[in-house]
Amino acid sequence: MGPPGAGKGTQGELLEQHLDAVRYSTGDMLRDARRAGTDLGRLAQTYMDAGELVPDEVVIGVVGEALAALSPGASVILDGFPRTIPQAEGLALILEAAGQRLDAVVNLVVPEEELVGRLSSRRVCSECGTLASGESVPSGACAACGSDLVQRSDDQPDTVRRRLGVYLEETAPVLEWYADSPVDVLEIDGIGSVAEIQDRIRERLAA
Ligand code: AMP
Repeated sequence: MGPPGAGKGTQGELLEQHLDAVRYSTGDMLRDARRAGTDLGRLAQTYMDAGELVPDEVVIGVVGEALAALSPGASVILDGFPRTIPQAEGLALILEAAGQRLDAVVNLVVPEEELVGRLSSRRVCSECGTLASGESVPSGACAACGSDLVQRSDDQPDTVRRRLGVYLEETAPVLEWYADSPVDVLEIDGIGSVAEIQDRIRERLAA
């Protein structure tokens, strides 16, 4: 968990490799659906472009289907889900029915002024959605597939402000919800190099 621009995708990808886990990013899944032009993608588009959350029942359905398709014993990283208390409740029900539990909630802590700067300078691949690293930005080409880098439509200043507002109103309370539950919430300082932050996450998860 963490506000927009906290580094959930970047850190989640590294952790996915380290743990040999499957990572489900609801943002990526919804963007894939948009690119593919599915009903889900069309429904999600209006909400995403406005910086609003896609309705809970839709997102819970997407995650529930993905989890149901996993082989037993797989390790899973959920990136950007749950983002509301009803989603946390929905996830708890899905996990309970499958006899599974969350090991931990990782919360990336980054001050708001830093987030706005990060989001406005962020670039992603127009074709495959890969996040651009510092080196690929000057060349303007995706390191993974060579396609053009673009700014995400929801990284424009007005939409960024709305997303941060939505985070404070709807997502921050989920952390309190978990604090009242048996699941450990690991607060990770999200300022530093990508490698430093990844080390902090791995240390806390191993403790
Ligand atoms: P992200 O890539 O995680 O920043 O998500 C981008 C956008 O996708 C968000 O601003 C929402 O519009 C939508 N989205 C992603 N995850 C969720 C979620 N768990 N619940 C509702 N909407 C979501």
